[in-house]
Amino acid sequence: MTTTTSDSTVFLLRRLWREHLIHHKPRLLLVLALTLLMAGTTALYPVVINHAFDMFTAHDRRILYQIPVLVVIVTGLKAVAQYFQSVQVQQTVLLVIRALQGRMFAHLTHADLSRMEREAPAQLASHFTTDAQTIREALTRAVNGVADVVTVIGLVGSMIYLNWLLSVIAGALYPLAVMPIERIGRRVRKASGGMQASVGETAALLNESFAQARTVRAYRLEATETRRAEAAFAQLYKSLLRMTKSRARVEPVLEVLGGVAVAAVIGFEGWRAAVSDHALGDFTGFVAALLIAARPLRALGSLNAALQEGLAGMVRVFAIIDEKPSISDAPKAVPLPPGRGHVVFDSVRFVYPDGREALRGLSFEALPGSTVALVGPSGGGKSTALALIPRLQDVTSGAVRIDGADVRTVTLASLRDSIAYVGQDALLFDDTVAANVAMGRPGASQAEIEAAARAAAAAGFIAALPMGYETVVGPGGQRLSGGQRQRVALARALLRDPRILLLDEATSALDTESEAAVQEALATLRKGRTTIVIAHRLSTVRDADLVVALAEGRAQESGTHTALIQEDGLYARLVRSQSLLEA
Ligand code: ADP
Ligand code: MG
Repeated sequence: MTTTTSDSTVFLLRRLWREHLIHHKPRLLLVLALTLLMAGTTALYPVVINHAFDMFTAHDRRILYQIPVLVVIVTGLKAVAQYFQSVQVQQTVLLVIRALQGRMFAHLTHADLSRMEREAPAQLASHFTTDAQTIREALTRAVNGVADVVTVIGLVGSMIYLNWLLSVIAGALYPLAVMPIERIGRRVRKASGGMQASVGETAALLNESFAQARTVRAYRLEATETRRAEAAFAQLYKSLLRMTKSRARVEPVLEVLGGVAVAAVIGFEGWRAAVSDHALGDFTGFVAALLIAARPLRALGSLNAALQEGLAGMVRVFAIIDEKPSISDAPKAVPLPPGRGHVVFDSVRFVYPDGREALRGLSFEALPGSTVALVGPSGGGKSTALALIPRLQDVTSGAVRIDGADVRTVTLASLRDSIAYVGQDALLFDDTVAANVAMGRPGASQAEIEAAARAAAAAGFIAALPMGYETVVGPGGQRLSGGQRQRVALARALLRDPRILLLDEATSALDTESEAAVQEALATLRKGRTTIVIAHRLSTVRDADLVVALAEGRAQESGTHTALIQEDGLYARLVRSQSLLEA
C-alpha cells in the first residue's frame, strides 16, 4: 500500500503480532471463541425469520411458542457473547498500548539529550496520548473487523442456503467496493501524520504559554499569545477537518453500493415473478440477511481507513522505539578506574548537530581534589564543556579523560555514578524533600538523608517546613525559594559522595542569608573532591585553585585569580566589568 516495506500494512501488523499480540494468545483465543458465538447467532437470525415467515404462510400454530422462545434464546446468547467479547478485546488492546507506552518511555529516558531537545516535551508526550489513542482505535476496529468478517461469512452462508442465485448477484457487487476503500485508506494515512504533528505542536504551545504565565502577564503578551494559540487551533482544525473529510467518504460510498445490491436483488426477483409464476420462496430471509450484513460490511469498509490511521501512529511509535542512542557503552567498556578525580580536557572540539562549533580545542587539567572555575563571556562554551564530562554529549575530536581513562571507554553507569551535577536553576521533582535528596543515592537511609541535609545547611529550613522532610515541594520545587532549592540539590549531591562535582552556579542573586548558607554548603561539598564550577561569583573564583577563562571555545587564559588579575587580560576585564555575573 505504501512504497517503503517497513511501513507497509502487512509488515507493521506482523511486527505488532510478533512483539506484542503473541503474548496474549490465550485471551485472543477466547476472543475468537466469543466472536464465533456472536457471528453464529447473528447468522441464525435470517434463518429464524425465514422459518417464521414459512410458518405464517402455512398458518402453523406452533409459531406461538416456538419462534418467540427461539428469538429470545438467540438474542440472549448473542448479547452475552457480545459483552464478553467487547471487554476481552478492549483489555487486550489496552494491554498492548500499555506495553508500547512502557517501551517508548524506557527508550526516551535513555535517549541522547540532543534527541530529547529536538522536540518539545509536550510534543514528546503527545506520542503517549494521541498516537496511543489512534493505535487503540485501529486495533479495536481490527479485532472487531475479524468478528465482522466471521459474521459476514456466516450471513453469506445463510444467504447461499436460502437462495444461491441471489447470492451470486449480490456478490458480483463486491469488487466495486474495494477500490474506493483502498484509495480513501491511503488518504487517511497521510492526513494522520499532519494531524499528529498539529496536536503535538498545539500541546507544546499551550504548555509553554501556561508555564510562562508570569511573563505573559507582566509583559502584557495576552493578545500575542492568544493570536499564537489561535493560529495553532486553526492549523489543528484544518488537519482534523482533512482527516474527517477523508473518513466521511467511506460510509456514503458503501451505502450506495448496499442500495444497489438490494435494488438488484428485488429487481431480479420481481422480473422472475413477472415472467414466470416463480414462487417468492426464501426471498424474505434473504433480504433480511442482506440488511443484517449491511452493518458489518460497512464497518469492514471503514476499517481500512481506521487501520491506516492507527498504522501511521504505529510507525511513529516504532520509530521512537527503534532509535539507537549514539551515546552508549562502548563494546569493551570497563568500569571507571579508581582514582580521586583527575579530569583532563585534551584539545577538545565539539560541534553541535546544527553545525555550531562550541569548543575549538579546549585544554585544561583539574587535579584531584582541586576546584576549577570556568569563567568567560556568555556563549563561550562553558556549559558545553561541562556536559562532556558525564557524556551528555560526546566530543567531536580530542578527549576528556578521568583518572587516565577516556570517558568514552568506560561504562556510562560507573562514569555517571562518580559524578554529581548541580544545575543553575536547581529544579526539583514534585515529591517530598526527603525523596528529592534520596535521588542522590537510591536506598539511602533517613539518617543519611538528614546528615546530608545538615551538611548542605538545609536542615534548618527543612525542620521549619509544615511536614518537615515529608513536605511535597510542588512542580519543579516551586514551594521552596531559590536558595532552599539549591541547598536541597546540594544535599542530593553530597549524599551521592561523588568523585567529581559539576556545578553550574546560579546567576540569579540570592539574598545574603541564603547566599551565605549556600556558600557554606558548597565549602563542605567541595572538600576532598574535584570540583568544576561555572562561576558567576567573584567569591567562588577567588577560592578556586585554577581559573580557566573560556571564550570562543578555547581557554584564553588560566591561572589563579591573583595571577590572572596581574596578567590584566580577559579575566581581569571580566572582573572589572563585573560581567562574571552572566549566564
Ligand atoms: P556558555 O555556557 O559559555 O554560555 P554554551 O556552552 O552554552 O556557552 O554555548 C556555546 C555555543 O554553543 C554558543 O554559541 C551556543 O549558541 C551554542 N549552543 C549551545 N547549546 C546548543 C545547542 N543545544 N544546539 C546548538 N548550539 C548550541
Ligand atoms: Mg551556559
